[in-house]
Order: sequence, then C-alpha cells, then structure tokens
Amino acid sequence: MGALPAHLENSDTGRSLLDPFGRAITYLRVSVTDRCDFRCVYCMSEDMAFLPKRDLLTLEEIDRICSAFVDRGVRKLRITGGEPLVRRDIMTLFGSLSRHLDSGVLDELTVTTNGSQLARHAKELAACGVKRINVSIDTLDPEKFRRITRWGDLTKVLQGLDAAQNAGLKVKINTVALKGVNEDEIEALLEWAHGRGMDLTLIEVMPLGEIDGQRIDQFLPLSLVRARLAGRYTLEDLADRTGGPARYVRVKETGGRLGFITPMTHNFCESCNRVRLTCTGQLFMCLGQEDAADLRAPVRASESNELLERSIVDAIARKPKGHDFIIDRRHARPALSRHMSVTGG
Ligand code: SAM
Repeated sequence: MGALPAHLENSDTGRSLLDPFGRAITYLRVSVTDRCDFRCVYCMSEDMAFLPKRDLLTLEEIDRICSAFVDRGVRKLRITGGEPLVRRDIMTLFGSLSRHLDSGVLDELTVTTNGSQLARHAKELAACGVKRINVSIDTLDPEKFRRITRWGDLTKVLQGLDAAQNAGLKVKINTVALKGVNEDEIEALLEWAHGRGMDLTLIEVMPLGEIDGQRIDQFLPLSLVRARLAGRYTLEDLADRTGGPARYVRVKETGGRLGFITPMTHNFCESCNRVRLTCTGQLFMCLGQEDAADLRAPVRASESNELLERSIVDAIARKPKGHDFIIDRRHARPALSRHMSVTGG
C-alpha cells in the first residue's frame, strides 16, 4: 500500500476526509436495503430483482463502517434505502449508532422513509436521538398515491406521520415533481405541509435505473414549478443550506419553508459534502457517476479497522468533481443503470 497523498494524511488539525477538490466529507448516506414495500413508478420497475441476502452487509458491519466514517470527521448519518424501516431489526442499528450522538462526535442521525412503517417505529427513532426525518409523499390523493407507488397505502403513511409528529420528530416532506401526475397538486401539498409545521422539498426526477416508461414523460423542471408558485405566493430566498443540495425559500403567506432540489436544471456539486454506502458495502463517491469502492472486503478481511480506513481514504481521493444528468429524447436510456434504491435517494 502506498503512502497517502499529503492532504489526506492525519494531521494535527484532525482526521477529516478531504477530497481532491478540497471538499470535506462530513455526511454519509447509508442504504441499508435495496428492498422496498412500494414500487414508485419513477424509482423502480414492477418486477425488480433484489440482491440475495447473503450479499448484504450485516447491521454490525454497517455500524462498523459508519463508525469508521464518524471517526474520520463525518458529522451526519442518514439511513435510507430501499425502504430502511423494512429491514429486519433495523432499530438495533439506530440504537447502536446513537452512542455517537451521546458522545457528541455526531451531530445528526436521521432517516429518509416512505412512512409506511413509521407508526410502529416513530417513538423508538426519537428515543435513539433522531430529531428530524424525511418522509416521501408525492400526492395526497389516495388513488393517485396507489398509482404512483403501485403498492402503497396513503392512510398508513398519514398515520405514520401523525405518530412521528406525536413522538416529537420534525418532519420534512419530499415530493418528486412529476409531469402531468402531481403538478396540479403542488400548491395543495405546500399548504398541507406548511399547515402541519412541516417543510416541503420538491425534487426533479433523475435518470437512474430502467423503469417501465420514459423519463422525459415524467420530467417536470422545477424552474417551471417555481415560476408558477411565484404567481401565487411570495417566495423569499433563504440562505439555509442544511448541508444538502436543496435551495430554500420562505413562503410568506404560509410562513413555511420550501426547498428545491434541481439536479437536472442546476447541479450543486461544488458544495458536495457527501458519499453514499450501499447495502452491499459499495461506496459511491457521487450519485451521478458509476465509480464505487468496495468496503465490504476490507471489513470482512480483518477485525481491525486499518484496512477499512485505508480503503475509505483511497475512495475519497477518487471523488469526482461532479455529474451531469441529461434527460431528453435522444438519451432514452438511463444515465446510470442503478436505481435510486441502490444508493438511497
Ligand atoms: N424508501 C425511502 C423513501 O421513500 O423515502 C427512501 C429511499 S427513496 C429511493 C428516497 C427518495 O428518492 C424518495 O423521496 C424518492 O421519491 C426519491 N427518488 C427515487 N427515485 C428517484 C428518481 N429517479 N429521481 C428523483 N427522485 C427519486
């Protein structure tokens, strides 16, 4: 193994992970399963082939990898999927990771979920130190919800939301803007979310993985949505960046916050602080590129973390500058073969 590049060596100033462009990696997103109890039309095809269970990292291995990142300066962990709350015994992972919140080395442990299992897990999440969660809801119309998710039940998700808010969790709603599907509902979603004290973030659909249908038919540029909303509401730009790609506005009439995630019309790579771990231990340094580093082999090769740490440092040294997604008629195939459920949205 060669010497580390000088800027990645441990130094007196700390053991933080800096990529070749000087960006500090402080945020790890972990997809704990590629399975989901929904089949959202823009996310998955109906007959998805899932990974064999033996390929998955155990919860203990996920904890080890997360802890190695925390040890190198990661301050925020997001558990995602697939649907993270369908993974068996997932609460033991939240329970064990919460020690890093207790010791103060981690600022935030959070989760992105479709909400279907929140009714039974909300209290325990709060007990594990989770303060804020993201819940994905694209429509408030039960039939449309079923059409978009193929298998989802809106009533159950709304019960989950109630449970989350009753447990004291702050909720942000994520909505993928879909042409001709929910574009007429954005105002209603905004009024509803802000009325319940929840932020709303709108997301542009990204060309990840084969789905049944054409991306171009789903794609709705948020520049258009924003222009329409501006006709009805006063949108005041906010400087808040919550360490993520969303740009926020305050909606004066509702008092709530509205976020825009625009990977298609405006990419946000220059401030990227994150990397993504899949449930099989692949580390993706960029959501929009194919390159990944295997962390499962070093975890399994030895009980000490030396190899693992070296692999992490080497991987961060390969983090690319950014990505360019394209959706148009000439690019009918997905930009990337993997689905969002692999790397966790
Ligand atoms: N199951 C959880 C959920 O529903 O939030 C976590 C995983 S899901 C892949 C995370 C987010 O990615 C969801 O908000 C989902 O709507 C979004 N998503 C999935 N596929 C996407 C795509 N192709 N483009 C944009 N967002 C996508």
